[in-house]
Amino acid sequence: MPSYLDPLSLEQAALARQWRHDLHAHPELGYQEHRTSAAIAALLEGFGLSVTRGLGGTGVVATLTRGAGPAIGLRADIDALPVQETGNAAHASTHPGCMHACGHDGHSAILLATAQHLSQASDFSGQVHFIFQPAEETGAGARRMIEDGLFERFPMQAVYGLHNWPGLPQGQVAVNPGAMMASQDTFEIVIEGSGAHAAMPERGNDPVVVATQMVSSLHTLVSRRVSPLDAAVLSVTMIEAGTAYNIIPHTATLRGTVRCLAPAVRERMREMVTTLGETLPQAFAARATVHYREGYPVTLNDPACAARVREVATALLSEHNVQWAGNASMASEDFAYLLQACPGAYFWLGADGAEASRPLHHPAYDFNDELIGLGVRLLCGVVGSYQL
Ligand SMILES: [Zn+2]
Ligand SMILES: [Zn+2]
Repeated sequence: MPSYLDPLSLEQAALARQWRHDLHAHPELGYQEHRTSAAIAALLEGFGLSVTRGLGGTGVVATLTRGAGPAIGLRADIDALPVQETGNAAHASTHPGCMHACGHDGHSAILLATAQHLSQASDFSGQVHFIFQPAEETGAGARRMIEDGLFERFPMQAVYGLHNWPGLPQGQVAVNPGAMMASQDTFEIVIEGSGAHAAMPERGNDPVVVATQMVSSLHTLVSRRVSPLDAAVLSVTMIEAGTAYNIIPHTATLRGTVRCLAPAVRERMREMVTTLGETLPQAFAARATVHYREGYPVTLNDPACAARVREVATALLSEHNVQWAGNASMASEDFAYLLQACPGAYFWLGADGAEASRPLHHPAYDFNDELIGLGVRLLCGVVGSYQL
């Protein structure tokens, strides 16, 4: 067995934990990860890798090249969230109102340890691009790295990424030969009626009434127009109208989100929301403008790459610890952009130890350090599976 498939030494594992705690103590929001990416780049240079800084703003790519073999990309996200940490670990956030509540500190530590482990293995042959990506949380850092030439400057045959997953037991992995996470789009519908005195509705055209009809009708799209076998969710999350008890407002605004697990369903939802939003108000002699914004696409694994993760995980953990083709999540992930540009797979690493993990984005969430070793072995295993 090649040496890079060995578990981390105690010393390496302790170092990786230290890196994780340091990142956790100094969290930074999307595109502001200056200290984070400087610390990551310095470590990678210390491992003797060729390091490119500033890709996609605060992103870092480090390349290990040794002998012949295909090039594989491994990605970790590095940004934190605007959450005030309530946990009291020694490594708790020192930045008020900002914390690593999604475990990206852990993902970064796993990828750093993987880079160190592979760079120290004299029997490794091939090329690996270690991608440290900014702004996963709403900032589409993956897309920005692509726009900055990620795949042209660092050609790769496949790209892989993982996320720690509360709700899945530690020592388990979940991966699907298709959708892992949903697309995430938003819409805003501005209904224009005609303002009037509340005592004389006949003199105006009440957009609040149209808005209530609109909410009801929007909620029929998923239940009546999408197959029950296709996952989709539409939520109207904001309604804004009016300024006083005695005024019929001139406009009413609805906002909400749409999530889907298949690109074709996503496209249909976009068409249906837009058509309904524009035409329903006409029945009330009102008008509406629909702004539909596409956010993160569906995170769609390449089936062959997903099967490779499954195979590596099964060899390490045995079959009953690998969830294959299970339920996807209706949350979203900007790794989706990488998968649109390059085949690859994104998988979940079970995070629940003896105690269940706090949910992602919880103010007392803290990445489970016990996952680091397994994360490294899985990533090294995936890279190793491409060895010539
Ligand atoms: Zn998150
Ligand atoms: Zn996350």
